[in-house]
Amino acid sequence: MQISEQKVALIHYTLTNDAGEVLDKSEVNEPLVYLHGAGNIIPGLESALAGKQAGDTLNVVVAAAEAYGERHDGLVQEVPRDAFQGVEDIQAGMRFQAQTDNGPVSVVVSSVTEQTVTVDGNHPLAGQQLTFDVEVVAVREANQEELAHGHPHGPAGDESH
Ligand code: ZN
Repeated sequence: MQISEQKVALIHYTLTNDAGEVLDKSEVNEPLVYLHGAGNIIPGLESALAGKQAGDTLNVVVAAAEAYGERHDGLVQEVPRDAFQGVEDIQAGMRFQAQTDNGPVSVVVSSVTEQTVTVDGNHPLAGQQLTFDVEVVAVREANQEELAHGHPHGPAGDESH
């Protein structure tokens, strides 16, 4: 069975950046399960998997635009330290939820001065080209509930979400 719309695929993957660092990988006995065509995974990876079947291996290089998008300087903001009342020791690398007009956004602190804190609302992988080494483990039909929800219900489709 080939991967196409309305199929659920189980894949093992290793994600590396251009420096060759492993950023993420599936667990040995827990392949990633996704519903094809539903936007469960990044577009560049999803399109490369179309037509593949169990046992296929592929190496996919995904440009930033087809992965987590380009970086936007407008998402980097310097805010007064007062905005972090109640937080004792603000350091670069800390994550916060910022309330914006478009709802909560996850931001990471990129630098701190005595008066201000610079936060970055870009996805941590924005602007990066990503490489996936993928092995297709299994492909099955999605069931009606999975199609209605737009995501898989576990490897066998019998988990409820
Ligand atoms: Zn569901």
